[in-house]
Amino acid sequence: MNSIDYIRPTTVDEAVSLLTKYKEKARVLAGGTDLIVQMRGGRYQLDAVIDGKHIEELNQLTYSKQDGLVIGAAVPCHKIYGDEKIASAYPGIMDSATLIGGIQIQGRASLGGNLMNAAPSADAIPALIAHNAVANIVSAKGTRSVPVEDICSGPGRTTLATGEILVSISVPAPSKGFGARYIRFIPRNEMDIAVAGAGVSVQLKNGKVEAARVALSSVAPTPLFVENAGNALVGKEPSDENIQTAANLAKEAATPITDMRGTVEFRKHLCEVLTRRALHTAVERAREEN
Ligand SMILES: Cc1cc2nc3c(=O)[nH]c(=O)nc-3n(C[C@H](O)[C@H](O)[C@H](O)COP(=O)(O)OP(=O)(O)OC[C@H]3O[C@@H](n4cnc5c(N)ncnc54)[C@H](O)[C@@H]3O)c2cc1C
Repeated sequence: MNSIDYIRPTTVDEAVSLLTKYKEKARVLAGGTDLIVQMRGGRYQLDAVIDGKHIEELNQLTYSKQDGLVIGAAVPCHKIYGDEKIASAYPGIMDSATLIGGIQIQGRASLGGNLMNAAPSADAIPALIAHNAVANIVSAKGTRSVPVEDICSGPGRTTLATGEILVSISVPAPSKGFGARYIRFIPRNEMDIAVAGAGVSVQLKNGKVEAARVALSSVAPTPLFVENAGNALVGKEPSDENIQTAANLAKEAATPITDMRGTVEFRKHLCEVLTRRALHTAVERAREEN
């Protein structure tokens, strides 16, 4: 077994130069609830683990009605849902942060780590997509901001290049009439991987849908943004019939596999059911906001 350097940078610049030096032989550590398990399982042969938890920007958690929400990449779930203002303004993100693992996991696990781990079953990613979130990425070349739906490129793979670090996730401030929801199906209440999940949002104005977003987990090689399902609702009333059309489009877009958790047919069925239910709740939440 080779020895691994544990390094605790205190600035983003320092972390970036370490990532540039070690290249694919280094990984950033946030809560470690994926990384440590994967290192033990032999997924990575690393020379260095770069702890992001001592970098100010990765620990920021700020919210205002004007500027929206910024979640540092290493902020654990419990801090996010523990803030009442954030919890009520970002209901879909709250749904996902409160069901990742269990209470102990939520004490460590970050949404940044969930996104960078890029599991098709990641619970936070569809909710972040539904909330229109953007990933802020830094490298020696500078900063770039990428919509969350463009981050995952395959199971466990992201579009980040060697030497890049996720610093934070920005989420726009919700307007009046906004509602969101994330739900998943698992055979037991917690500590399991989603058989399928749906993250959705709606923006209502004068009784009609002004904008809507739908994203799915566990039914494709990456969390899936189903743009046409949300678009199908735009300009229409959020009636049962229109919601059903969007749910059918989500079902059509899914390309799941059969495994021990469920068959292709079951997962596609779940996409329709979960999207429909999530949209109904998002609409209810949006009306409560009016
Ligand atoms: C018992 C158990 C139950 C779980 N249940 C769930 C669940 O219900 N739903 C779910 O979605 N997940 C679940 N998970 C997986 C895991 O907890 C989540 O994916 C979690 O959000 C990962 O966050 P973390 O901070 O621990 O990431 P880490 O493990 O620290 O990192 C994850 C990956 O992201 C990379 N990374 C981290 N930060 C950065 C950064 N700033 N820049 C670039 N790369 C970075 C790491 O190198 C690593 O590859 C579970 C895990 C366990 C052990």
